[in-house]
Amino acid sequence: MKAAIVKDFARPLSVEERDVPEPGAEQVLVEIEASGLCHTDIHAARGDWPVRPAPPFVPGHEGIGIVRRAGDLVRHVRPGDRVAIAWLAQACGRCGYCVTGHETLCEQQLNSGYSVDGAYAEYALAHGDYVVPVPDGIDPLDAAPLSCAGVTTYKAVKVSGARPASRVLVSGIGGLGHLALQYAKAFGAETIAVDVTDAKLDLARELGADHVIDARTSDVAAEARRLGGADAAIGVAVSSAALQAAYGALRRGGALVLVALPEDGVLELPVFDHVLGGKKVIGSIVGTREDLAEVFRIHLRGATRVIRETRRLEQVNDCFDEVLAGAVSARLVFDLRG
Ligand code: NAD
Ligand code: ZN
Ligand code: ZN
Repeated sequence: MKAAIVKDFARPLSVEERDVPEPGAEQVLVEIEASGLCHTDIHAARGDWPVRPAPPFVPGHEGIGIVRRAGDLVRHVRPGDRVAIAWLAQACGRCGYCVTGHETLCEQQLNSGYSVDGAYAEYALAHGDYVVPVPDGIDPLDAAPLSCAGVTTYKAVKVSGARPASRVLVSGIGGLGHLALQYAKAFGAETIAVDVTDAKLDLARELGADHVIDARTSDVAAEARRLGGADAAIGVAVSSAALQAAYGALRRGGALVLVALPEDGVLELPVFDHVLGGKKVIGSIVGTREDLAEVFRIHLRGATRVIRETRRLEQVNDCFDEVLAGAVSARLVFDLRG
């Protein structure tokens, strides 16, 4: 099978032939149809974060495909089922986090395309209990971005406390942000979209943003406060300055949800303003298997539109450059079918 492999943080990925792996008793072997390129994969391949993956490894945690083989202990999916391989490759299932609906905080978790090989390949192994069934009627090329960009921003909007009377600012209308904007609208909120490219600002308008701010030419915080300030800001631009500006956009009582993970990211909190303004800063990491099932149902109802372009896996290094240059419409998806 073909797989894209990170061998060294300083070198491009290498696309090579590998043996198709054998599933263990609790695992499934998934023939990948579509695999999304999340900005996290770029951070992973470059070793951007304090906890680094160990090369060689296969990135990818927006993998959609068909179960071809299942180990003896796998119960809830069978060969022929379409499933998603998301960031949460496996958790312990027993700790306080796992049993109270916070499995993405499990200290024992493994992560697809980071601590275990992911979906930038024609086949991938996954834990039978942690793949999420993809309902019939969802195009695998749409299901891929929904499996990380979708579930992560759905969860972020949920934890922001957004409701119909809220004004929600989304900072960065990329893979994650274009879906964050749609979830904020689905929650009934007034929306402010922020980005630094004309194409993304146009996309935000097309997706129904009520206000659009160009961070190249405007003071985002001042502009947002002129509109009344944000009750919630979703930080998905890969930039500490953008996160700081999103914090500055909050009105009293507002919440900033931190989602983007820029290398060496920092946020300065002015304590006096934070306390008197009763503000909140919340870290949000992906979403649970149930959140992803909800994301698929919301998509089936027609409430979300996935903006994506397809590429071949061999183009992976050019694709990373495209994403870093902000030159993609929203999400790139590797189409691995035939
Ligand atoms: P992306 O590259 O597709 O999108 C980033 C967007 O931000 C682009 O549209 C870009 O034009 C815009 N941007 C850049 N500078 C900006 C600025 N100063 N102000 C406003 N917009 C700006 O990336 P993505 O795949 O959407 O991922 C975003 C981040 O989220 C990454 O750091 C990724 O690792 C992280 N992430 C976190 C989680 C989580 O669970 N917390 C999950 C997935 C991804
Ligand atoms: Zn991701
Ligand atoms: Zn656990």
